[in-house]
Amino acid sequence: MAEQTENGQGQTAAVDSFSKYFRAEEFTCRCGCGLNNISAALVARLDKIRETADIALKITSGSRCKAHNAAVGGKADSAHLDGLAADIAIANSNERFLIAKAAIANGIKRLGVGTALIHLDIDKIKPQEALWLYA
Ligand SMILES: [Zn+2]
Repeated sequence: MAEQTENGQGQTAAVDSFSKYFRAEEFTCRCGCGLNNISAALVARLDKIRETADIALKITSGSRCKAHNAAVGGKADSAHLDGLAADIAIANSNERFLIAKAAIANGIKRLGVGTALIHLDIDKIKPQEALWLYA
């Protein structure tokens, strides 16, 4: 686990207002670079999805720097680069259904579905009402 260093943005004070259910660090780039450009609009949406689904949501990927995005095989124009995407761990088919249902109910128009994760993003530049599979 990479050392978490903060960058003087009042992280500690901001945590409480950041989200009802998530800590800012959960969205920090996983490579250890410290990047966290996660969209407040996305986090607000995730709070609603968490509320609707009534399931704890484990974020496996939020912000990604270019190097980390490439390392994990992300698309060159991935919404993760702009802090507009989050991947959520999926334990079973019921969780996958409930989280996808809650995401759509809360206005998510871009979903990627995999065996162990579901990707949600709010990138308005990309095609809307898209649901893809990670083969
Ligand atoms: Zn990084």
